[in-house]
Amino acid sequence: MDDAQRRVADFLAAADLHAHPAYRLLDLTAEVGELAADATASSDYGADPESLSVNRDELGDALFALLALADELDVDAEAALDESLAKYEARIDETGAPGSGSGDESGSESDPGA
Ligand SMILES: [Mg+2]
Repeated sequence: MDDAQRRVADFLAAADLHAHPAYRLLDLTAEVGELAADATASSDYGADPESLSVNRDELGDALFALLALADELDVDAEAALDESLAKYEARIDETGAPGSGSGDESGSESDPGA
């Protein structure tokens, strides 16, 4: 991830594409929306969930947007990922599930990001 983040940072600098983090966050949200559009279209809005797929290039766009956001915020993406994985592993050890199980509206038991 360090290498990927560095490649994105180098690209942003070379192409003079630096932007305020708020706009990087909007771009990330837009790219994740494109993944959602792929998912809804490929599954016929859930009528055929087994056919759900997303385009690889859209995954790349979303990853680029996330790493660009990390760059603009001066966050080490690999360190952030390491911290998240450690958090999920600790939750699994403690509760048997990766989700927070907090019962709030931010996620579900099966959502480690909650
Ligand atoms: Mg895209």
